[in-house]
Amino acid sequence: MTEAWRPDDDDDQQRRGAAGPVKVRVPAKINLHLGVGPVRPDGYHELTTVYHAISSYDELTARRGDTLTLTMAGEGTGELALDESNLVIRAARALAAYAGVPAHARLHLRKQIPLAGGLAGGSADAAATLVACDTLWGTNLSREELAAIAAGLGSDVPFLLHGGTALGTGRGEAVSPVLARPTTWHWVVAAADGGLSTPAVYRELDRLRAERDAPAPLGSPDSLLAALRQRDPKVLAAALGNDMQIAALSLRPSLAATLAAGEAAGALASIVSGSGPTCVFLAADEGHAGRIAAELASSSVCRTAYPAYGPVPGARVV
Ligand code: ATP
Repeated sequence: MTEAWRPDDDDDQQRRGAAGPVKVRVPAKINLHLGVGPVRPDGYHELTTVYHAISSYDELTARRGDTLTLTMAGEGTGELALDESNLVIRAARALAAYAGVPAHARLHLRKQIPLAGGLAGGSADAAATLVACDTLWGTNLSREELAAIAAGLGSDVPFLLHGGTALGTGRGEAVSPVLARPTTWHWVVAAADGGLSTPAVYRELDRLRAERDAPAPLGSPDSLLAALRQRDPKVLAAALGNDMQIAALSLRPSLAATLAAGEAAGALASIVSGSGPTCVFLAADEGHAGRIAAELASSSVCRTAYPAYGPVPGARVV
């Protein structure tokens, strides 16, 4: 797919691609295990993580257009630029450059995933854009090609193409599925007011570790992987872990009250999602998740709380 695009190809591309709007739904991710290793020479931390896609979604619609345009609605979009810094625009341009086609599309993003929340919403939007434009433009890249473009856009983007539950290594971009008998896990997501910058949380973790103020790194995800195979939420609850939690709590001490409120409401486990500030709680079943979410939503420890389940598939045309 490296040949340059020629103007004559436009008609051909119109024939190959989708005529109508292409709508893609993409989930948020949480990390069941987030082990942060040392900083690598390239500035990234070495990660060992178990990603889990949950039923909290953004939606990206792509239509034919003469240029590349983006409109947005929903959660946090007032704070997001519509320019080349937006991950949606970056993803569309990266796909077009790789496939040798013009980056022409009218894109509309409907956001529900909290911004800068530790749920990888921006990465999810990039993954959704790759899938939507690949269909709209008829470029039909393989999963491997899309994953390679995704890795260039951000560490979490390959996982959001993939979905399910998967092991992430390297800086998180090397993803392999976790094989387990199908089990649905029930969660409660508690969104905070305002976000946390992921680089700032990494810096805080480095500082705490340098001052020997952080617990020992989690290391291997083996006990978490074994817990997933047991299909018992109480066993999974004991195996969840996040090295970034201490740093998120240090920057946002009020999260301690959110975590405690989830446990007081009966959650089997409370954990900060990724770099925070969103907190997630493991429930025994769907009804239990609904009750915990209702209790948290009516408290003052979070902006909003809602139940979700996982694993769910990654970015898909709907
Ligand atoms: P992660 O867990 O992947 O570090 P996050 O969930 O904490 O990310 P995101 O919502 O993915 O946070 O946003 C991180 C930053 O990415 C935002 O603060 C914003 O500056 C930038 N960004 C660019 N495009 C988007 C987009 N379409 N949606 C959300 N954020 C975007």
